[in-house]
Amino acid sequence: MVATIYFTSLVMIYIRTKDEIEIMRKSALMVSATLTEVAKMLRPGIQTSALDTMAETFIRDNGGVPSFKGYGGFPASLCISVNEVVVHGFPGKYELKDGDIISVDCGVYMNGYHGDSAYTFAIGNVKPEVLQLLKITKESLYRGIEQARDNNRVGDISYAVENFTAREHGYGVVRELVGHGVGRQLHEDPQVPNYGRRGEGKRLREGMVIAIEPMINLGKKEVFTGDDGWTVATKDGMQSAHFEHTTAVGKHKGEPLSSFAPIEAAETANAELNSSYYTL
Ligand code: MG
Ligand code: MG
Repeated sequence: MVATIYFTSLVMIYIRTKDEIEIMRKSALMVSATLTEVAKMLRPGIQTSALDTMAETFIRDNGGVPSFKGYGGFPASLCISVNEVVVHGFPGKYELKDGDIISVDCGVYMNGYHGDSAYTFAIGNVKPEVLQLLKITKESLYRGIEQARDNNRVGDISYAVENFTAREHGYGVVRELVGHGVGRQLHEDPQVPNYGRRGEGKRLREGMVIAIEPMINLGKKEVFTGDDGWTVATKDGMQSAHFEHTTAVGKHKGEPLSSFAPIEAAETANAELNSSYYTL
């Protein structure tokens, strides 16, 4: 889940011990395991509510609590955002169809700490320019993670994401929603925008844990919030991608505590089952 940008003078950023980071890794990897189970279910014809039902059961069976369910009144365990929906979509009756993209954002609370991660999947035959958006958005997350090192500033992460997606590839970078610190609360300081200047913003210190989460639009950057008060979609109706890792700030580079490896393995297996399936 994404934080809404806010203005404040008081900022409280926690430094986690190595032990705390290992506990947080378990929460983050439980999110990755849940997204992997989602990946295995993805196909044209499946209702997005079925993904949410499975995810909640999977998380609770493994000793966790879905972080999002009830957060600020959010009604589900997953945020499911299809095509032009950027983030915070509600799971529901919608049936996935060939050519869709679906962003799935998940949070797990376990042992006193939250993990938060998101992944955007292609369903069947997705247009090459949309597959490229997914590839570049995922790559931009890793460009940001590289900058999550001791003594850097939040703006170094922001700049890395914006430079790669907007300047190099001409995509729209969502500005109203930002990454965030994560820990005992789902959303903590600092805010981590996907746009900004090098050398600006809060100082990063080894042991901080932040959710880095580029939300990148194929078209323009402008978004709006729907009548449900949650669903954020692009104004121009073009597709949007979202990838997120819970990330520990390291001495020399950031370390993702969540992992895409099992999700990507499930994607590949899906592609082998269905020869019409594209993989990234
Ligand atoms: Mg999230
Ligand atoms: Mg988040």
